[in-house]
Amino acid sequence: MSNDVPAGEKRPVFAGNWKLFGTLAESVALATDVQAGVAGVDGADVIVAPSFLALATVTARLGAGGPANRVAVAAQDCYWEAKGAFTGEIAPAQLVDAGCRYVIIGHSERRQLMGETDADVNRKTRAALGAGLKPIICIGETLAERDGGTTLAVVERQLDAALRDISDADLGRSLVAYEPVWAIGTGRTATPAQAQEVHHTIRTRVAATRSAAVAAALPILYGGSVKPDNIRALMAEVDVDGALVGGASLSADSFVRIVKEGTEVWLRS
Ligand code: PEP
Repeated sequence: MSNDVPAGEKRPVFAGNWKLFGTLAESVALATDVQAGVAGVDGADVIVAPSFLALATVTARLGAGGPANRVAVAAQDCYWEAKGAFTGEIAPAQLVDAGCRYVIIGHSERRQLMGETDADVNRKTRAALGAGLKPIICIGETLAERDGGTTLAVVERQLDAALRDISDADLGRSLVAYEPVWAIGTGRTATPAQAQEVHHTIRTRVAATRSAAVAAALPILYGGSVKPDNIRALMAEVDVDGALVGGASLSADSFVRIVKEGTEVWLRS
């Protein structure tokens, strides 16, 4: 398992979002167990996203295994300014300094609980790319929006806003995560068909606004109550390229099963 992807080669991506969980010791232990568990998995990119405070320690510990079996590390958020009087914020370059290669941007918990807007998501995405991080851009509709029949319009609006003024080359270093808000942490997963419909819409939108090649290369992850027992069906969908996993990533056993089973389905299809 390696995260050094040759240009043009697309691989499934599995990212664990640890949210506000874990002491330093627990984070290091979980990351170490994940790294050991996926060591034999060939052909997937595996990412863990601990809290800010654990990032440097976790990246240092994972890096000791060498690039051949390194699990990459993501932050769960970043700010858009590089430096200055922004108390409590963390700049993308500081995340790079801590060993991060990815950053989750626009998670629905940040949009809903911290008031993050589409414009903020765009500013953060551009700043992350400018610092050399790969953004995992989260988009997804609320239950009211789904029930109101506006899912696809909402997702297209969020996508267009997040990608404003981002070059095709930078989009080539980005990932999109479709996370229906009603499925996050609720135990209620989108059906594979629901996920596929939205993923296809995202890819079609990128093809229309960029090019077919850019759209085909874009990793689109599904997130929302992904578990070992539903990853196979989700990964069997043609436009599902991986998963952003919350609760089930807090156990190395279940996250490693998701990585292994998801990769197996990807390689077969
Ligand atoms: C998430 O936090 O991005 C997520 C999808 O959470 P869960 O898997 O717990 O629904």
